[in-house]
Amino acid sequence: MTKIPQYTKLLELYKEITLLNNINGVLYWDFEVMMPKKGTEQRSEELAYMSGLIHERNISPQIGKLLKKIQEHKSFDDLSFQQKRNVELIMRDYEKATKIPVAFAKELAKHGAISTEHWKTAKAKADFSIFRDDLAKMIELKKQEAAYLNPDGDPYDVLLDDYEYGFNKKIYDKIFAEAKSGLTPLIQSLVTATNQPDDSLILRKCPVRVQTALAHDVAAFVHYDLNAGRIDTAVHPFTTGYFDDVRITIAFDENDFTNSFFATMHEVGHALYEQNIAPEFKYQPIGKATSSAMHEGQARFIENIIGRNPAFWEFYLEKFKKITGKIFKDVQLEPFAHAINKVVPSKIRIHADPLTYSMHIILRYELEKALFADKLTVDELPSFWNEKMEEYLGIEIENDAEGILQDTHYAWGLFGYFPTYALGSYYNAQFLKVLKKDLPTWEDQLREGKIQAILDWLNKNIRRVGKLYDPLDLVKRVTGEDFTAKYFVEEVKNKYTKLYGL
Ligand code: ZN
Repeated sequence: MTKIPQYTKLLELYKEITLLNNINGVLYWDFEVMMPKKGTEQRSEELAYMSGLIHERNISPQIGKLLKKIQEHKSFDDLSFQQKRNVELIMRDYEKATKIPVAFAKELAKHGAISTEHWKTAKAKADFSIFRDDLAKMIELKKQEAAYLNPDGDPYDVLLDDYEYGFNKKIYDKIFAEAKSGLTPLIQSLVTATNQPDDSLILRKCPVRVQTALAHDVAAFVHYDLNAGRIDTAVHPFTTGYFDDVRITIAFDENDFTNSFFATMHEVGHALYEQNIAPEFKYQPIGKATSSAMHEGQARFIENIIGRNPAFWEFYLEKFKKITGKIFKDVQLEPFAHAINKVVPSKIRIHADPLTYSMHIILRYELEKALFADKLTVDELPSFWNEKMEEYLGIEIENDAEGILQDTHYAWGLFGYFPTYALGSYYNAQFLKVLKKDLPTWEDQLREGKIQAILDWLNKNIRRVGKLYDPLDLVKRVTGEDFTAKYFVEEVKNKYTKLYGL
């Protein structure tokens, strides 16, 4: 309750926007999973209409007026911590949305669509020159956008903060230096180790029917509530939903069950976050995940820290063999756990293992940082990329399609976004350090197939609190320390040297 009627009104508006977003989410899920082929054009129009409607609501001057009245109200100080946080979060989004002129936002979106078309051609022909001019223009547009958001700020710092609140070059420089110095020698020693994993333990024909049964079984094991969710098939796995209806999708490869199996664990990790935010926060700004990188972290916690953990397989392998029948009958625990944790440098980011993945991200960060500081020109990008790949992962890039052109992000102007992809795993390792202290038997419990205490820990410390705190504050609250990547390095060093018998 509050003595400020404008606060109540503001939260009502926020609830409406949330409902619209949820409706949009179901339309999108249907588009990806259920919709008949012919419906594409019609649905695209519906989705575009909804996006326009939501944007209009987000920048409504009424929100600006209410925010002002609330802050000037004599009872403002009587608002609770949670209520003040709600006001702060709405204000942050409102200011951001209204600082960008509508005409500029349209130009940016239009150029994104055009440059994405050219990027597709450039990638297909492995010819950077086709995309060069679009990219140069996009970089100028993003500098302009940064200036709108914060005219006094460093452009790349502004973009970094835009994707993960509170982050800047200073923080990334520190954590990526920690990661780089630890990971480079580790990757080198794993790649040259004589004891290499045996792929034939994994790459066996496994029918979709069996993989579906596995997906349902492992989802139930980590307590994914199917009365508040669904598992369906889509081209690219994703999760969508809110509190009591959070759905995941996965894709199947008959010759490699790990794709659907770990995608299930990953997406369920996302879903569990949404399903376990404090129910009393529903329809409020605090009733959301801390950040997208924290969301990704929660997904990887289930996928990597649980799913790729040899302790989990000590319990799960027998069950796995029962479900898969004859296919994996001869498989032994140790070589199998090694095989699902194979480290191999690759040209393509999305095919990278959890360890070399960081190097792909660090490369992109260094490139973007130099680019926005005018220390690197657009024409130098392909060779910068190729030299770094050679230096960090010992990989020779033969053409730009497998180099600078591999991701769609830059065509859309997503500079400052890639660095957030590394954060989830670093957050996790720092949290894990505390979880181990609070729950020293966590791996013994996994060995016995018990997961409740681990899930309780995640719920209490991370999922339930929703967006009450910004990511760096949450890390500090839970761990008592500033954010660091040193625990990630420690964790993977420990895990992989054991797996590789070094
Ligand atoms: Zn994810």
